[in-house]
Amino acid sequence: MDALEPPLPDHLGFLAELEAALHGPDSGSAIGVALVSLECIGRVDGMLGYRAGDALCAQAIGLLRQALKAGDSVRRIGRNELACLLRRLPSAGHGILAAHKILRALDQRLRVEGTQIHATPLVGISFGAAPACDGDSLLRQANVALCEARRNRDRYAIYDLNLDAPRLLQFQLQTALRNAVADNALDVQFQPKLDLRSGAIAGVEALARWSLPSKGDIPPSQFIPVAEAAGFISDLTLRMLNAALCRYDAMQAVASRLHVAVNLSPTDLQDRQLPEVVRQALGAWGVPPDRLVLELTETAVMEDDAVCGASLERLKETGIRLSIDDFGTGYSSMSRLRNLPLDELKLDMSFVSNLLSSPRDERIVRSMIALAHDLGLTVVAEGVEDGATLQRLREFGCDLVQGYYVSRPLGPDQMVEFLAARE
Ligand code: C2E
Ligand code: MG
Ligand code: MG
Repeated sequence: MDALEPPLPDHLGFLAELEAALHGPDSGSAIGVALVSLECIGRVDGMLGYRAGDALCAQAIGLLRQALKAGDSVRRIGRNELACLLRRLPSAGHGILAAHKILRALDQRLRVEGTQIHATPLVGISFGAAPACDGDSLLRQANVALCEARRNRDRYAIYDLNLDAPRLLQFQLQTALRNAVADNALDVQFQPKLDLRSGAIAGVEALARWSLPSKGDIPPSQFIPVAEAAGFISDLTLRMLNAALCRYDAMQAVASRLHVAVNLSPTDLQDRQLPEVVRQALGAWGVPPDRLVLELTETAVMEDDAVCGASLERLKETGIRLSIDDFGTGYSSMSRLRNLPLDELKLDMSFVSNLLSSPRDERIVRSMIALAHDLGLTVVAEGVEDGATLQRLREFGCDLVQGYYVSRPLGPDQMVEFLAARE
């Protein structure tokens, strides 16, 4: 075939060739697969058109064919992916040499429609011999190595068994969580916020809970990032919002003027539909907007982002209260803090826990309380685990406390009992 004729992606053809090599005359010696991603193709398709993308691919194939040994072969197997079959690749060391050879071959400006383009290749390499290895698993392993190179911002990576275990675990966790969210199988617990002046419970925070029969309870610090990375955090947020609002009536029947707080993820604020979705949920459950608090992390609201700013303004206009969670752990700009439509600031428990033992943390907590009050915000101290810390926070003028000393997070029915007992 003419090297410059744009080849159609053909992964099945490559797999057939690979199987033939694994079981051919050289079977027994290890065969290598180098998966090359031409990272520039998406840009070229978008800027110069798909024919230009194809032409660039064809040039790269030509260069690789010149560089590789006789008997090795190259095929296009995806829009921007080339797969090289490397005969006799007995060790990881040989894999590294092959990766360098491929990168060198492509390390030049390619010319497409009068424009000079850097192919910006990434390479993932795997190797193995039959019968332990089959073609499909070799290609998959090269793909795992390619992802690893991309993740580490390296130009190449060699497959190693250790790369697979965490990815597989992550994949299983992601699938199970996606199903749990879709089936409404996440649970909610509530943790109270105590008003230090009145001694009443002023509000409760809804916290997501998830467990798997095989793994037991999985903490939100583990599963929330999975939902964020896999792109279904807004579904999870909506489930939690509804789970919290549907319990509001029963809780507020025994504790009047109660607030209920729900945690938002940074990506929730990028969702233009969020304010309307929240407004509808409040309407559906008949909860007044000023009874709902949305807790946002510092980093999520500090970026001067137009969509996020507009969402916050619209939520605020609805009458919802906005709170900054884990304050002190992210980065804050004073001008942004001053301009945001906030109501509450939650001091992160890392400062609160050391309040009595560290004079420095004590000064930080006192200053943060003063700063929040100057900005007209209610202050909540998180992670209060003993009476002495609570007493010190009271002396500093802190408004609310939350923590195991008041109560651990409780299931919905237990929370109603807890609130009723305190009334
Ligand atoms: P957060 O919003 O700051 O929630 C407070 C966390 O501190 C909870 O952990 C709570 O159980 C724990 N905690 C409360 N009092 C104490 C105490 O006295 N001592 C100690 N050591 N810990 C205490 P949890 O439930 O594991 O949640 C961790 C984080 O996961 C939350 O931090 C929040 O950022 C996130 N999260 C939980 N549920 C959701 C959710 O529905 N949506 C989103 N986006 N994030 C959630
Ligand atoms: Mg929170
Ligand atoms: Mg917090």
